[in-house]
Amino acid sequence: FDGLSRSLEKAWDSVRRDGKLTAENVKEPMREIRRALLEADVSLPVVRRFVKKVEEAALGERVVKGLSPDQKLVKVVYEELKTLMGGQQAELVQPKYGPSVILMAGLQGTGKTTAAGKLALHLKKKGLKVLLVATDVYRPAAIDQLVTLGSRIEVPVFELGTDVKPPEIARQGLEKAKQEEYDAVIVDTAGRLQIDERLMEELRETKAAVNPTDTLLVVDAMTGQEAAGLVKAFNDAVDITGAVLTKMDGDSRGGAALSIKEVSGRPIKFVGTGEKMEALEPFYPERMASRILG
Ligand code: GDP
Repeated sequence: FDGLSRSLEKAWDSVRRDGKLTAENVKEPMREIRRALLEADVSLPVVRRFVKKVEEAALGERVVKGLSPDQKLVKVVYEELKTLMGGQQAELVQPKYGPSVILMAGLQGTGKTTAAGKLALHLKKKGLKVLLVATDVYRPAAIDQLVTLGSRIEVPVFELGTDVKPPEIARQGLEKAKQEEYDAVIVDTAGRLQIDERLMEELRETKAAVNPTDTLLVVDAMTGQEAAGLVKAFNDAVDITGAVLTKMDGDSRGGAALSIKEVSGRPIKFVGTGEKMEALEPFYPERMASRILG
C-alpha cells in the first residue's frame, strides 16, 4: 500500500468544503479507497463489501466530537480496516490438556517449512518444549530442510523417512510428544504447486490423525488476488484456525492481508518478515491498518 491516506488526499476537498460527510461528497473518497485497494491486489468481492461498510459507517449517526469530516472518514476507514483483519491480535489456541498441536498447511514455496521452524523457535523462547514433525514425504529435501532448521534452532525433528504415509508419521510424532511430555508439536505437511484433491485428502487425513489445536494456512504475501480462492479452498477442506502471512518484508502490495479474514472468518496469527528463524511476529490488525493508511 502506498499510503491510502495520501491517495485520499485529493479526494478530501469536497468533504472539507461541505463541513460534513454526505452521500454526495463521500463518493470521490470511496472511489479512491476502492482504487487503492484494487491496486493493492485485494480481491474484488472483498473490496466491494469493504467500501459498502465504510460508506455506511461514514454516513451513520455516530457523532465524533472534535473531528473534521475528513478526519472522521479516516477514522472510519481505520476502524473498518482493523475489523476486516480480525480486530484484535489472535493467539494460538490453548489446549485443555496435552500438547498444542499445530498443523502447517499451504502451497509449496510459500514459506511453510520456514514458518514451521520460526514458530518452533517462537514457542521455544516462551519456554515450551517443542517437537517438529516432518511429513513432507514427496520431497526428500523437505525433510532434510526441516532437520537442518531444527538443529539450527535446537528443536528436535521427528521423521520416519519417505516410506511411511504422512498421517501415520504425524500420529507417531504426536504419540512421542505425549509420552515425552512435549508442550507443543508442529507438523509440517506436504505442499504442492497447485491445490489438488489428493493433497487436500491427505491433509484431511493428517489432520484427523492428530486432531490439531491449530491448523495454520501459510500464505505468501505476494499472492495477491488469488489469495481469496486459495484461502477458501483450504478452509473448505480442513477448516483452518488461522493463517501465517509470509514474506511481508518483500515488496508485496499487501492485498492478501485484507482478504484472509474476510474469506475464511479466520485471522492472520503471525507474519513472516524475513528468511531468518527470528523473523516471525504476531499479527496486529491495528498496526497493519495504520501502515495501510500511511
Ligand atoms: P515451503 O515450500 O512452503 O516449505 O517454503 P520454504 O519454507 O522452503 O520457503 C521458500 C523460500 O522462501 C525460502 O527461500 C525461504 O527462505 C523463503 N522465505 C520463507 N519465509 C520468508 C519470509 O518471511 N521472508 C522472506 N524474504 N523469505 C522467506
